[in-house]
Amino acid sequence: MLEHTFPMSTPRSPLVPTLARSMLRRAYDEAQAGLAEGGIPIGAALFSRDGALLGAGHNRRVQDDDASVHAETDAFRRAGRRRDYADTVMVSTLSPCWYCSGLIRQFNIGAVVIGETANFYGGHDWLAELGVQVLVLDDPACTAMLADFISSHHDLWFEDIGL
Ligand SMILES: [Zn+2]
Repeated sequence: MLEHTFPMSTPRSPLVPTLARSMLRRAYDEAQAGLAEGGIPIGAALFSRDGALLGAGHNRRVQDDDASVHAETDAFRRAGRRRDYADTVMVSTLSPCWYCSGLIRQFNIGAVVIGETANFYGGHDWLAELGVQVLVLDDPACTAMLADFISSHHDLWFEDIGL
């Protein structure tokens, strides 16, 4: 496990890896649900810092014919309105793209837990520089799930990732 916590001056307590892993499990289940629907297997969930689930979702590009429905945006929208997101944690099976990193920054989400960065390296270093707590779990199941999908759906993956 690779742990990044930036900056050291943050008053927030560190993310607890055991809790982070159980949160990631929820995001992984979302990704599997997306896969079962014929979609791209990326899942996310928004939690309160103490582990209460606020909303969960998955990439719905294929299902909704909508390129803007990423896992993180789906989870965010399903969480409804909040006055303040500083005490929330966005959990995603994959490093957040620039679009989703922008969402996290815009709403001042305090922490991000990431399943893997091997298949895609998104904006999490940028978020860490801005003071968002970032925990990368390097989860083998998340990595294998998306690697398998990319190898069998090459065109769809590169359509989604915008390359
Ligand atoms: Zn995204």
